[in-house]
Amino acid sequence: MDYETIRKPPVNAHAVRPNLDDYAGTRSAFDYERVIDGLDGLPGGGLNIAHESLDRHVAAGSGDKTCVLWEGKDGRSETYTYADMAKLSNQFANVLRNLGVEKGSRVFVFMDRTPELYAAAFGTLKAGCIIGPLFSAFGPDAIRDRLENSEAAVLVTTPQLKEKVYEVRDDLPALKHLIIADHDASPEVADGELSWNALMADASDEFEIVATDPEDPAVMHYTSGTTGKPKGAVHVHKAVLGHYATGRFALDLHPEDIYWCTADPGWVTGTSYGMFAPFTNGVTSVIYEGGFSARAWYEVIEKYKVTVWYTAPTAIRMLMKAGDDVVKRHDLSTLRFIMSVGEPLNPEAVVWSEETLGLPFHDNWWQTETGSIMIANYAAQDIKPGSMGRPLPGIEPGIIDEEGNVVAPGEEGDLAVRPGWPSMFRTYWKNEELYDSKFRNGWYITGDRARMDEDGYYWFVGRSDDVINTAGHLVGPFEVESALMEHPAVAEAGVIGKPDEVAMEVVKAFVSLKEGYEPTPELRQELTRFARGKLGPGVAPREIDFIDSLPKTRSGKIMRRLLKARELGLEEGDTSTLEDD
Ligand code: ATP
Ligand code: MG
Repeated sequence: MDYETIRKPPVNAHAVRPNLDDYAGTRSAFDYERVIDGLDGLPGGGLNIAHESLDRHVAAGSGDKTCVLWEGKDGRSETYTYADMAKLSNQFANVLRNLGVEKGSRVFVFMDRTPELYAAAFGTLKAGCIIGPLFSAFGPDAIRDRLENSEAAVLVTTPQLKEKVYEVRDDLPALKHLIIADHDASPEVADGELSWNALMADASDEFEIVATDPEDPAVMHYTSGTTGKPKGAVHVHKAVLGHYATGRFALDLHPEDIYWCTADPGWVTGTSYGMFAPFTNGVTSVIYEGGFSARAWYEVIEKYKVTVWYTAPTAIRMLMKAGDDVVKRHDLSTLRFIMSVGEPLNPEAVVWSEETLGLPFHDNWWQTETGSIMIANYAAQDIKPGSMGRPLPGIEPGIIDEEGNVVAPGEEGDLAVRPGWPSMFRTYWKNEELYDSKFRNGWYITGDRARMDEDGYYWFVGRSDDVINTAGHLVGPFEVESALMEHPAVAEAGVIGKPDEVAMEVVKAFVSLKEGYEPTPELRQELTRFARGKLGPGVAPREIDFIDSLPKTRSGKIMRRLLKARELGLEEGDTSTLEDD
């Protein structure tokens, strides 16, 4: 699969000079401890993410700048300045103080992307508590697991979502306060519930941020559950150095940008890059409450004149599936820089966006545990479609072998990172043992397999758990999926290793088709031939099944472990983050 390198002109069409235009120079001179020079620190000493995100802009005289352009599900728009967000979060910090919630307590939110969610998150940080966001589509079991494990003392939810909490409330003795918020109206509250509106009305909009140490826990995120039971990764206030620096370098944020991150705060992308990176960099963010539809998303970009857009492969594949006509009906010319994260980005998607949107998607790699982007394609650098790009300033990844030694360029191994960057997780909540197991010879082991080429670009191979061993070859599912995606009939593909007496495993593909294609035996044969031509007979799938849609996590990741369990008739394991069919 040869894709041509996408070359970047010295000056792009939007004439914006990329922040990271001297990659080698910036990397060699970079020191994370000095990033604080571009930030503030708390007036009385200490560091707090909410201060860096909101209050410091107000103190510097930028309180009137638009922080959030909110688009409700029903098409309503509301505008919030940095001063508005600072005040709303002060109020919520006072709410927690008035309730007697102590520093270090876990405060969870379980709600749609309304302004209240953001006020609660920053208010929690200001009060010195730990914010834990839950995705609003979670069911009762997912809610119980996370609130039980974290022993959350406060949960903010909505009249529509609270029933799911009631199904498990008896299992949650640590949960003292259930706050009900409704963006539209003052909610009716039952016994044992508190009204957001009543609490906020009684709370002052001035608050002195609790003195938090850079190493105090700030955010707890459960992983996506793609490979097993979700783990609670704990991040500290010092992570904000990473959010700020990567916002500049990887997102290429400039003060005049209108930025849209499509991720929900229930996932780490939705906090690190849906709140902290854009807010610390003082840009204007679009927050769209609604879910995915190609038309609605293009409308958001057009309506708000989005310049920088951060989304995920699953959404990009759906946009590709929706076709180019719907793109043509919208003016997307304000876009200047677009990015993707969460899963491998098929090279076909990069080429599609170049052709259809006039801009290539820039893939980048990181995970809940790393807290911020580690490897990225940059505004000023050429893109090799299919590659995750090169390491951020201040980040030292390595491809290592089983002993923890770095392998030669071009060789496959475990993707690892040298610990010590600010946003690295400090532990898995109540699971120190698992945390300790993630290190080898001074490296943090990410659980992904990858290669680095001679130019220092990293190439994703697969998750360690997903790599297929067939007749002595190690095959990464991503390579096979990407080859299948090049066929015009294929919308999505998920590839697993199926146990086999002779070959140990054989490659099996599950394929969902684009509209207008029928799952016929002829098409199956054609796809087999097509994949063989691209990959060779040793790597191409031996079996192909057609499937309406692939099982995915709520954050849109293909769950290969579930394809495998279903294929083999095994237990499905933790499915609390599985998307509804
Ligand atoms: P769990 O750890 O519970 O199995 P998860 O690993 O999917 O779930 P996240 O932390 O949300 O949880 O996802 C990080 C993982 O997503 C990475 O380790 C990697 O496997 C995958 N990923 C993220 N970005 C990319 C990318 N650009 N290319 C390839 N894979 C990516
Ligand atoms: Mg993971």
